[in-house]
Amino acid sequence: MESIDTLIHAHWLIPVNTKREVLNNHSIAVQHGKIIAIEPTDKAKKHYQAQHEYSMNSHAVLPGLINAHTHASMSLMRGFADDLPLMSWLQDHIWPAEQKHVSDDFVAVGTELAMIEMLRAGTTCFNDMYFYPEVVARVALDAGMRVSVGLIVIDFPSAWARNADEYIDKGLSLFDDLKGQSLVSTVFAPHAPYTVSDKPMNRLKVMADELGRPIHTHVHETAFEVEESIKKINKRPLQHLDEMGLLSPSFMAVHMTQLTDEEIELVAERGVHVVHCPESNLKLASGFCPVDKLLSAGVNVTLGTDGAASNNDLSLFGEMRTAALLAKTVSGNAESLPAFQALEMCTINAAKALGLEDTIGSLEVGKAADIIAVDLNRPETLPVYSAVSQLVYACQSSQVSHVWVNGKLLLNDRQLCTMDWNKNRHDVLQWAQKLKNI
Ligand SMILES: [Zn+2]
Repeated sequence: MESIDTLIHAHWLIPVNTKREVLNNHSIAVQHGKIIAIEPTDKAKKHYQAQHEYSMNSHAVLPGLINAHTHASMSLMRGFADDLPLMSWLQDHIWPAEQKHVSDDFVAVGTELAMIEMLRAGTTCFNDMYFYPEVVARVALDAGMRVSVGLIVIDFPSAWARNADEYIDKGLSLFDDLKGQSLVSTVFAPHAPYTVSDKPMNRLKVMADELGRPIHTHVHETAFEVEESIKKINKRPLQHLDEMGLLSPSFMAVHMTQLTDEEIELVAERGVHVVHCPESNLKLASGFCPVDKLLSAGVNVTLGTDGAASNNDLSLFGEMRTAALLAKTVSGNAESLPAFQALEMCTINAAKALGLEDTIGSLEVGKAADIIAVDLNRPETLPVYSAVSQLVYACQSSQVSHVWVNGKLLLNDRQLCTMDWNKNRHDVLQWAQKLKNI
């Protein structure tokens, strides 16, 4: 018998592999943070002697979910300014509050709140875009959660940087500081074509090419954004980005609710990844991302919650369900975005967009043990004809019982193992008092 760290027995094991298998009574063997075997439970019990053994007898065990677009610390502004269109929400409420309050501590407390919510909802990795990205990296590392840290760039000054060049310089220095951290990767994160001018955008492209990192930005979020660009430069933002050479397999375009058929062909041809944020788009009445057409064109589509200030939760279970329902209505086709494909969007597709597909996104030998267990033996998800259907269409995020990242247990039977909810709750309420008084 081989001695290993962890052995997880699953009633339903959904590795999210290319065969779209759902395995019954299989086990995952984990050693030094990596998956070393997946085999039938009766065999695994004979092969391995584990230090920690978990019997997930009524659970679906699957890869940790990946939130491909969020602004974690904006969880402090959840419910702060609801029922408004994007530009008024940003210009009259969110940006003034950020100008006044965003700081190292704001980002630390907000990101911790977001991470607690995400871990309890089965999210093991998030792709963030916010000020003080070094703080996001620090709190994620402290908790043992995986993060893709956005090196934010915006023309406006903030408490973190005075101008676009300073954002880029600070981002580059953080990129160097984070090298060698297995749980943290980086992406360049210019906010949007309408908030980042051409000069820094061009500089970012050169940096991203040199360093081999993706670029992650909001694009074609609203019709207003597209109209303003036509007024200003007589071009739609996507065309302008393409002329600058930005559209490539290293480009993640978030939202994309305003797309012509020609633009869908263009992003497919360029290998652009699309991050669909259906609940944020619905709440801000931004429009509908044509997911069905994008998938048919061969585009890699992933899912993000966006920040909690425009969603207002960070559950990818909710996001999968909304995405699947919306894709059917928008395309007029009930067969559009079936459950398994929705699950792929927040696992393997997101890993591909972030350049992390060799490490996460599916449960396969050699990959990191980023794993979640979801108890389906609940009134909300019985009977189970298809575990994947239940996960996408019926499951509540409170059914996530266990979460491992890099083989380390972060949620044990719904109890956080590395984060202090009572302390965070106290800090969140203090920040809420300050935000109320702007
Ligand atoms: Zn966003």
